[in-house]
Amino acid sequence: MLLKDKIAVITGAASARGIGKAVARLFAQQGGRVAILDLDEGAAAAAAADIGPGHIGLACDVTARGDCERAAQEVIRRLGHVDILVNNAGITQPLKIMDIAPENYEAVTDVSLRGTLYMSQALIPHMRSRRSGSIVCLSSVSAQRGGGIFGGPHYSAAKAGVLGLARAMARELGPDNIRVNSLTPGLILTDITGGKLTEQMKTEILKGIPLNRLGEAQDVANSCLFLASELSSYLTGVTLDVNGGMLI
Ligand code: NAD
Repeated sequence: MLLKDKIAVITGAASARGIGKAVARLFAQQGGRVAILDLDEGAAAAAAADIGPGHIGLACDVTARGDCERAAQEVIRRLGHVDILVNNAGITQPLKIMDIAPENYEAVTDVSLRGTLYMSQALIPHMRSRRSGSIVCLSSVSAQRGGGIFGGPHYSAAKAGVLGLARAMARELGPDNIRVNSLTPGLILTDITGGKLTEQMKTEILKGIPLNRLGEAQDVANSCLFLASELSSYLTGVTLDVNGGMLI
């Protein structure tokens, strides 16, 4: 039990096939109690109930600072404290550079970047007061390679921003014993990607993946567990490339 008595907040974890939900399920299996935050309260509560008793689901739009603060306080009130934050909420749009309108830019950067900042800010004072915390931020291989079939340049920019933000937080919060690390998943089969892949696209993509398979949400969840738990107690500011070897 790697997360016995640990309390974790996971944003964007209501989507049934999503990475956040897989993380929530794995954390619960490892003895953790989980607060699932997502746009729709009913969906968040249903996802929490689905992973077992004792977990909670709350409505929270991570682009709204007030929402993040309210959700953080509610989790602390109901579950007692918070040890782990997984900044997972994210959206993408498959646009080319000249097709990105201001509202596209804002929508995509707001969820990943503003969301990571606001949700972290909402919990850092609490983690500081406990002199303990582990924050995991979901970036993407798109940040490293520049684009991909599902992410436009604004998505790459937002996810690269997440890496910078995570490293800056890691540096600043290290003395408070709060670790901050990132994951850069490759192509993972979720609602963002699944269903939109033709067999031809899949064959083409697999040529660039040495492990010769697409990723599963569980692959990302496993690495997230490592970064969230004490197994990675001397790691901060690092990025784990959960991509089957895409960058070799
Ligand atoms: P998903 O679409 O299955 O789930 C994303 C969740 O975020 C949804 O439940 C959605 O309701 C929620 N969400 C959206 N906007 C929100 C907001 N403003 N506030 C709160 N919640 C919000 O996505 P996924 O594929 O599971 O992706 C999870 C994370 O991993 C994202 O940050 C994504 O960019 C990143 N990622 C995914 C892949 C992939 O291939 N699927 C690859 C690299 C990185």
